[in-house]
Amino acid sequence: MKELELTTFSKLGLNSALLKTLDAERYTTPTPIQAQAIPSVLEGKDLLGIAQTGTGKTAAFALPILHRLAANRRPAQRQGARVLVLSPTRELASQIAQSFKTYGRQSGVSVTAMFGGAPFRRQVTAMSRGVDVLVATPGRLIDHLEQRSVVLSGTEILVLDEADQMLDMGFIRPIRQIISKISARRQTLFFSATMPREIGKLAGDMLRNPVRVSVAPVAKTADRVTQKVIHVEGQRKKSLLVELFADSAMQRALVFTRTKRGADKVARHLEAAGIKVAAIHGNKSQGQREAALGAFRSGRIRGLVATDIAARGIDIDQVTHVVNYELPNIPESYVHRIGRTARAGAEGIAISLCDNEERAFLRDIERLTRQSIPSMDRRGDSALVVDQRDHTAPAADSNGSSRRGASARPKRFQKRRKGETRGGKPKPKQRRHRVDFPAASSTAPSL
Ligand code: AMP
Repeated sequence: MKELELTTFSKLGLNSALLKTLDAERYTTPTPIQAQAIPSVLEGKDLLGIAQTGTGKTAAFALPILHRLAANRRPAQRQGARVLVLSPTRELASQIAQSFKTYGRQSGVSVTAMFGGAPFRRQVTAMSRGVDVLVATPGRLIDHLEQRSVVLSGTEILVLDEADQMLDMGFIRPIRQIISKISARRQTLFFSATMPREIGKLAGDMLRNPVRVSVAPVAKTADRVTQKVIHVEGQRKKSLLVELFADSAMQRALVFTRTKRGADKVARHLEAAGIKVAAIHGNKSQGQREAALGAFRSGRIRGLVATDIAARGIDIDQVTHVVNYELPNIPESYVHRIGRTARAGAEGIAISLCDNEERAFLRDIERLTRQSIPSMDRRGDSALVVDQRDHTAPAADSNGSSRRGASARPKRFQKRRKGETRGGKPKPKQRRHRVDFPAASSTAPSL
């Protein structure tokens, strides 16, 4: 098994106030886009990031920007913004602004979101003394530029987020108009999930010697994996997992937990129920991990209980089931996890146990994968019946609430978003036309 070299946020060079906040947010490990992007942004380089929502992209730019603002404190010019983030939609703009507020709460940065549909006057007032970070949609920002209620001549950092969506929405011209008002000495960070020709051209015009980082498009889940979700109360998960193992079809199961302690607890519970399993995570020695993997491969144990990080880099064929004992808070992890089954032409089953507090994570996963995961109807306490009639309705509870728990994500994501109904259930999303970006590449200098 590959020994894993894990990056931490402190190794990436972020200041201690940010590290404290990340600790409070329970962000222990940078996502790949964060590990790749943060050092270059801290150095003041331009960046071309190929990544989509769900990869931790917002923090990949927000954290180093906040670090740079704190390292060079000074007031923004009147009606100006030291940092301008352009976002295609209101929802994304307000989420990004909220992220800046969350991550920057120790450093006292001022953040304003600006988009159409919100009172113009109030935005004029919010900008009158200038702000550190302005997150805006292009249309409303142009209105302000025309009214001279916003000036961008002193802007030091420009972020263009979801550039391909900007193209789909006809925003390329307004964007070029906005850029023409910003000094060429700025630092520019450019993000897009895909790279159609026009976006490549825009990036080429906007960026100077950018560092290019990309993460593989992960939104596509393997077709041969049958996915199910079971809505269950948190305290019932352990016994439910034992019930799942009662199915003899579950020959070789990879069970995912969010934490190392969780992995140990679950493994102990299964062992106590007579099911042969082992836990693998970062606190296990190399020898222990290899022994566990060997036993799993040879079929001497039926289950391997793992954290995301421990499961990376291990290669096991013929995993019949992936069980998400806890849903991951980073949606792309879900795609990686369930990709561990249905390898080498085999069929696989992925079962996710979702409690009330994890409903927001489930919604994010469904948004990322653009599919709703059918729920398994639990009739009675022991029978697990796949309900073919209703593939979208939540089974166990309906309030959709999601309290901020130990590993929950920031509050902002618990709000209702566009495309969700009041019950918190996502509406089936219309797939936008996208030109797919070729396979992932790693950091490489310049375009
Ligand atoms: P984004 O791709 O920016 O929309 O982020 C996706 C989700 O991952 C958000 O709910 C973030 O709060 C969460 N997130 C981002 N980075 C991390 C991290 N390093 N550890 C844990 N959660 C993260």
